[in-house]
Amino acid sequence: MRILVVEDEIRMAALIRQGLEEEAHAVDVVGNGADVLHWIQSANYDLILLDIMLPEKDGITACRDLRAAGYKMPVLMLTARDTLPDKVKGLDSGADDYLVKPFAIQELTARVRALGRREGSAKTAELVVNDLTLDTATKYARRGDKMIELKAKEYALLETLMRHPNQVLSRQQIIERVWDMDYDSESKLIEVYIHLLRRKIDDGHDEKLIQTVHGLGYRIGGNE
Ligand code: CA
Repeated sequence: MRILVVEDEIRMAALIRQGLEEEAHAVDVVGNGADVLHWIQSANYDLILLDIMLPEKDGITACRDLRAAGYKMPVLMLTARDTLPDKVKGLDSGADDYLVKPFAIQELTARVRALGRREGSAKTAELVVNDLTLDTATKYARRGDKMIELKAKEYALLETLMRHPNQVLSRQQIIERVWDMDYDSESKLIEVYIHLLRRKIDDGHDEKLIQTVHGLGYRIGGNE
């Protein structure tokens, strides 16, 4: 998933980024509440992690503003304040879940997975396309009875394709979901990772699941 982390404490932000990137998410970090709307207008975020105590605009106001602007992606609030009124205020402002600092990074990543399931088409931990299965908790793929180990970006690319079976995704749509703001649009990274995925997923199978649609993008699904 593409995730925006809004957190002004640099060490905390770095820990969160590392934890999420290890789970193959693409992460951008912003350090103040006033910039949140600008960032979510410029990229398609699947989820926002929003601290409450922030410079310029607090997280509760930022959350209220992004809901008022019509954005519906899940928001997970982070805060050191653990009193009941703050939790209620956070949820009332439009947040979907609430995590109190300090937290274990494993709890954060599990909540992120749960919110991603709630939002996406897949309600379970497994995505399935024909005889290919992807477990979003363990990050392993399986084609037929063969287990396939994936590197982080291979996983993120496969997950993105499998969340939209039989749909063509453009290069831009893939970049937005798999890479962060540092992606160089001239680079051939997508081609490289499609090639790596094909070797793992399609090699040795008559039916090729990963398809190039020339001039448009890529699609995963059965052959017509
Ligand atoms: Ca803070």
